[in-house]
Amino acid sequence: MQIGRRDLFKLGGLAAALSFLPKGFLEVLAAEQEERDPSVVQVEWEDLPWKIDEKKFERFNQKYTMFSRTGWDPKVQEVAKQTPANMIRNIKEGKISTLLDYAFHSAGWWVVAKTTPHEMDYGDGGLVSWTSEGTSPLFNFSTGPWKANPELEEERKKFKSAMEKNPELMTNIVKKVAKHFGACLVGIAPYDPKWVYSHRVLNPRYHPGVDYKEEPLELPEGTRYVIVMAFEEDYFAMAMSDGGLSMGEQGWGYSQMAITSGAVAEFLRSLGYIGIPSGNDTAITIPYAISAGLGEYSRMGVLITPKYGPRVRLAKVFTDAPLVPDKPIRFGVYEFCSKCKKCAEACPSNAIPYGDPTWDPPTISNIKGVWKWHVDVEKCFEYWCKSGNVGCGVCIRSCPFNKIDWPAHSMFRDYLAPIIGGGTGRALDDFLGYGERVYSHQWWGFRYKDLVK
Ligand code: SF4
Ligand code: SF4
Repeated sequence: MQIGRRDLFKLGGLAAALSFLPKGFLEVLAAEQEERDPSVVQVEWEDLPWKIDEKKFERFNQKYTMFSRTGWDPKVQEVAKQTPANMIRNIKEGKISTLLDYAFHSAGWWVVAKTTPHEMDYGDGGLVSWTSEGTSPLFNFSTGPWKANPELEEERKKFKSAMEKNPELMTNIVKKVAKHFGACLVGIAPYDPKWVYSHRVLNPRYHPGVDYKEEPLELPEGTRYVIVMAFEEDYFAMAMSDGGLSMGEQGWGYSQMAITSGAVAEFLRSLGYIGIPSGNDTAITIPYAISAGLGEYSRMGVLITPKYGPRVRLAKVFTDAPLVPDKPIRFGVYEFCSKCKKCAEACPSNAIPYGDPTWDPPTISNIKGVWKWHVDVEKCFEYWCKSGNVGCGVCIRSCPFNKIDWPAHSMFRDYLAPIIGGGTGRALDDFLGYGERVYSHQWWGFRYKDLVK
């Protein structure tokens, strides 16, 4: 077959079209998609059901979290001591959790245990360091020969000046980077110092060999925004709550929090901005997550997102980069929770309230001056230790919003739940068998006790 000049032009055109097609696809895929379900509406913070009494409100001292109390409160230390013995009891009984499940647990918590217990208390260390110091200059752009390099500083200055005029673009850049490095949801909250701990704690329980210390905490001048990220936990692993396997899944969430928030903070620092990564350390995350439009607050005291329900872990990065904040969202969680109460019934420690929100914190570990549902975190923590785990998650497993993101489930959330409400909605959820416990042999595909005698 002979190919003429005209054919060559045609082939050239086809090749050009084909080479453009993947590029076009990539651009569409890379574009920031606004995911908005029909039931989700954006509101102002003032329109949320929750109230703050500025006269009673106090910035929360991290010393009073249950985790920090294991460093100084004899009553809590006595309770926490029970965990290892109860874990061994579980392994020997092999009913709820086996050695295999606890091995999974250790694997899930590996990143936190090895590099970043800081994200459980003091912050500013390991993967959640506030600066780039101590990293290899071979791979890191802010240390060694790069530090204070005048040409680099000049380029940073030009970049920052361009972004100051285009915060929408900077927001898209940051969200894209956060998603690429592992976040499932990303939102931007304005920085409100109200939710930063008044004091932070270094607890020998997480940092063996150090002395317990508390110190006042302020974030750097100029901090403007909080990038809030959610990490999905696997539906089936969390269906095994509570036990070694679901704890491993929670641990993996914490590991992801440290990796991704650390990477996003380093990205910002490399551009010359403040980048302070944070897990449970430094500040209370849920108010920022609400403000960033990731979800609504619930009866069981956690955030419920439209896409993953309560099955997420949260991390954040504080920055002075110019960003466009998102708005809080509502999709009927408050109304549904008012009637549902499934988590309160499922809670093995009776820690979740059945009544209306109140101003009264039940323990010293609850924040003052906020009208909301307060979970009795002392009861909750005591149960964790008795059950031989470092967490529980039964409430998360039981919640009707805890669903795989399938069309049938989003249709229920968007169209049916607002009509039938939390009472009937919860009854239907029970009838269909949602929220029931799955056992670890169903996940592994064999019974440990049948093999290991
Ligand atoms: S189980 Fe029911 S009451 Fe509890 S958080 Fe979920 S929807 Fe709200
Ligand atoms: S984690 Fe467990 S003990 Fe704590 S509130 Fe939830 S269900 Fe209750």
